[in-house]
Amino acid sequence: MQTAHELAATLHALDGKSYGAYRAIAHQCYHYPQFTLQVERVQSDPFAAPSAVRVELPPDSAALPASLHRPSLRAVAAADFLTRAFSRVARQLSVDLGSGNSGMIVIAPVSQVILDRTAVQIDLDGTVIARFTVGLPAQGRRILGRQAAPLLTEVLPRIVTASLCYPALDAAALRAQVELVEDAEALRQGLHERGLVAFVANGSILPRQSGADDRPLSTGAVPLRSPPSLEVTLPCPHRGTVTGLGIPQGVTLIVGGGYHGKSTLLRVLEQGIYNHIPGDGRELAVSDRQAVKICAEDGRSIAGVNITPFINHLPRRQSTANFSTANASGSTSQAANLCEALEAGARVLLLDEDTSATNFMGRDRRMQALIPPPQEPISPFIDKVRQLYVERSVSTVLVAGSNGDYFDVADTAIALNDYQLHDVTAAMRAIAQRYPSQRQPEGGTSFGELSARYPQPQSLETRRGRRAVWVKVRSTDQLEFGENRIDLSAVVQLVESNQLRAIAAALIYVRQHDLDGQQPLHTVLQCLQADLQQFGWSALGEPLPGDWAEFRSLEFAAVLNRLRSLQA
Ligand code: ADP
Ligand code: MG
Repeated sequence: MQTAHELAATLHALDGKSYGAYRAIAHQCYHYPQFTLQVERVQSDPFAAPSAVRVELPPDSAALPASLHRPSLRAVAAADFLTRAFSRVARQLSVDLGSGNSGMIVIAPVSQVILDRTAVQIDLDGTVIARFTVGLPAQGRRILGRQAAPLLTEVLPRIVTASLCYPALDAAALRAQVELVEDAEALRQGLHERGLVAFVANGSILPRQSGADDRPLSTGAVPLRSPPSLEVTLPCPHRGTVTGLGIPQGVTLIVGGGYHGKSTLLRVLEQGIYNHIPGDGRELAVSDRQAVKICAEDGRSIAGVNITPFINHLPRRQSTANFSTANASGSTSQAANLCEALEAGARVLLLDEDTSATNFMGRDRRMQALIPPPQEPISPFIDKVRQLYVERSVSTVLVAGSNGDYFDVADTAIALNDYQLHDVTAAMRAIAQRYPSQRQPEGGTSFGELSARYPQPQSLETRRGRRAVWVKVRSTDQLEFGENRIDLSAVVQLVESNQLRAIAAALIYVRQHDLDGQQPLHTVLQCLQADLQQFGWSALGEPLPGDWAEFRSLEFAAVLNRLRSLQA
């Protein structure tokens, strides 16, 4: 192993040479007083993806109290804190040193949620590992060795010690984040036994800065206050107790006038599967871990899904027991999204009229009279939603601003008026009695069967052109995987592109391991999570990149299901 001094000397000697000579420092490990630096990959030119490095701080240097990184949930919370600190300090201390990304030290960007990520990991013994990128400096294609030396041996250690070593950190803020994550997790764990699917603490800030900015709305936000009848007080380890809105199991409607905050509340429930950073406004808003948003998504591809619970006898006798299409309609896409979510373990369904197919959601009396059931392939969700709860214990929270027929099938109704919540369950029942919908139920006697699917490994082809593996993630909305270009804008619970990169790696992994064409998808999902549990991130390959984040089986399946090449 070489010292940082020797690295500086090497970089000085490279000054003026052509960019490719930077390869001299690749795959080397350098010893610094407080950590080791490993150069994992050297970029090919100053405009290419920057070079990947990894630093490892032994427990003595990181000096994290054990109470902040054991058990592993605390390590995830603390590592997230360190990642954000690194990002901040690196932004302050990085300087533009020349062409392209010269001089830039960057850690993978994060969102408002706290996730297990490869960017910073804290081992059981308190070792801290950080993975980030460095733009090795050049002017044109000439190495700026005299700038590279201080960048790697002065600036980089300054960033590392100011963001990854406990003495330099805001200890109170770090502890607050760790305790918050434990509290939120305890609230989430407690939901099921209390008969709840979600909890939103009083005082939570629901609206966001904008559609493109996930930080809390800074002025004019009306903090959440639960209606007294839905208010629950839950215990948690650090705060003692928290009081707020408890959304019960069963079928819950969110009603109210347009622009009164319905979709905003539902979006908070969607994101309640994650823990949020302090100050986010949703840090004490938690949902069942298996809650899934179900949207219509016309145009998506579908591979061999049994959608007979919702759709039967399509024109031209197309089978819906094993339904495949390259171009789904609004209703078939929503039916497939729902059946696929059940296959992947969904326990709570979140639907918004705004993003649903109208004919999937319901058919009123008059339409039933004009187009009688034999001519309508769809058994609408309104006739299935109770079956899902009674037969499969799958609850639903639905934003219903227009369809009062749902009053017949709902257990609870929450109204939003001027962003204030009211329990209107009793009024809903009274109105349902006074004005019968006179609909004919079209859902049959039971929800119906779901079929296991067997994804075929060769249909997860990674090849594109001459490249054996082509994977590109540009945002949370789009993945290029081999020849596939997958639109994920309807998979709204993917919040970081880091998750999508990890999912892409996991697709490659399952193709080589668990997926053999004989195993049903739900078994493949279980095997993948078990392998990740047992072997950690390195199950997916070494050396680890710094831009992976944890994901649920539900999102993994959602990506797999949208591969246009998929055969199942
Ligand atoms: P709806 O779905 O009922 O039509 P939205 O949830 O889309 O309404 O909200 C409409 C607007 O009100 C959005 O701009 C949103 O950010 C804002 N908003 C939602 N909830 C609140 C709140 N509690 N305080 C202030 N503004 C809010
Ligand atoms: Mg809305």
